Amino acid sequence: MTSTEKLLRAIIALPSVNPAFVPAGHKRAGEQNVAEFLATVGARAGLDVELQSVLPNRPNLIARLAPRGAIKQRILLAPHLDTVPADDLQFEPTTKQGRLYGRGACDTKGSVAAMYSAMCELAHGDRRPAETEIIFAGLCDEENAQAGSRALIASGFKADLAIVGEPTKLSVVTAHKGSLWIRLTTDGKSAHGAKPHLGKNAIHAMAPVIEAMEGDYRAELAKRPKHPLLGLPTCNLGSITGGSQPNIVPDKCQVEIDRRTLPGETEASVSREITDLLRANKLKADFNVLKGAPSPALETDPKLPLVQQFMRSIGQSKPQGVDYFCDAAVLSAGGIPSVVFGPGDISQGHTVDEWIELDQLERARRMLVEFLHSLA
Ligand SMILES: [Zn+2]
Repeated sequence: MTSTEKLLRAIIALPSVNPAFVPAGHKRAGEQNVAEFLATVGARAGLDVELQSVLPNRPNLIARLAPRGAIKQRILLAPHLDTVPADDLQFEPTTKQGRLYGRGACDTKGSVAAMYSAMCELAHGDRRPAETEIIFAGLCDEENAQAGSRALIASGFKADLAIVGEPTKLSVVTAHKGSLWIRLTTDGKSAHGAKPHLGKNAIHAMAPVIEAMEGDYRAELAKRPKHPLLGLPTCNLGSITGGSQPNIVPDKCQVEIDRRTLPGETEASVSREITDLLRANKLKADFNVLKGAPSPALETDPKLPLVQQFMRSIGQSKPQGVDYFCDAAVLSAGGIPSVVFGPGDISQGHTVDEWIELDQLERARRMLVEFLHSLA
């Protein structure tokens, strides 16, 4: 068993479920145990480790590898430590036919293991860079509100390139979509179900709003110019609630929408286009943004020298894009040029049998070691 696989098995067995998805005080909730374990491993390997407190019992793990000489540039390796929930068995790592199964194997404890092993390997050897400081940040809370990456930026942290660990099948990703969650609400007036003409039905009022969103709005999005790496923006009507029982005229109806945005689209621009569309159709619905923190799209210039160097080092000629949002956009908005890279496929994450191909895990570590060795 390689040391990367050993490390991955160890951290899968230390549950770090995002507390937002389980009842308060859940025994598997929080990143503390994983962060402390990695701190011990890193300190033993000669890294300078620190737990950066973010939320109660939910730190970021920061580990630094100083260069041989003075620091002239900084590379940040930034996977996240939290996972979505899972059943008991998924916290017992198992290997089958070259795959390691377990919660987080792919999203993103696989990236944690590959990046951390690469860094520990550099710390052991005598080929650490002359003037590049390498920093590993195991971030908390990516799966919910990205408190970890937001805290890192708020602390004033700067780097010349961040490599955010997410499953990209070992491709360098320079662009991803943003995500905007929207709630539309229609109001009515309640009345006895036997006298519906005395009320105003909010569910009925929602019907043409849904029609406009799924019809005109979708059609309009499909006509937009395609982003070269990301394609088209999308809109998913994901939930609806309204009314309480058959014999009451409903006075409220709400739909919740996930709008995936392209670089350049903002909360304000999307809000404007949806309210304009409703007005043009003579419809009335309240518009609210659901997420407290912005989740913009990512677009990093693939021509940046460090991005070019990373792509060259792993033998990739063209940058790639992905649909999902991640910490890279937060770090990028905070002034750190960011790309996404990691072993595994996002479709293997958040599943009941999450897995990672061990061969890809090992290749990820080797690619990272090679790139880090190539730095001045
Ligand atoms: Zn992830």
